[in-house]
Amino acid sequence: MDDLPSQLESFQTQMASLQAHLATVLWVSTVLSFVFALASAYVAVRRGHNPLRWAMLGAMLGPIALVVVVLIPTAKVATKVCPDCAESVKVDAAKCRFCGYRFDQAELVPRID
Ligand SMILES: [Zn+2]
Repeated sequence: MDDLPSQLESFQTQMASLQAHLATVLWVSTVLSFVFALASAYVAVRRGHNPLRWAMLGAMLGPIALVVVVLIPTAKVATKVCPDCAESVKVDAAKCRFCGYRFDQAELVPRID
């Protein structure tokens, strides 16, 4: 059995090693949060979702958020059909991006949500 001073020394050594270990874990998890926040935001933008929301979820949940944002369906953008060229354009568009057709003023009345 060791005497008390050497036990104390051993304990101090263990605490120092634990502290170093915790600092490493903290650093690695911070970097991983950042990486998953960026990756989730990138996928969210590509799929029509809110990048800020998914960056926060990516930072908190890491790979879980990334998997979820990949699996959820692409956000549907409301569209209307151009009467001139029959292409689908965003419902808020004033001008067709395919043929340049200008939608009637009546269609531009702001919607009351
Ligand atoms: Zn058109």
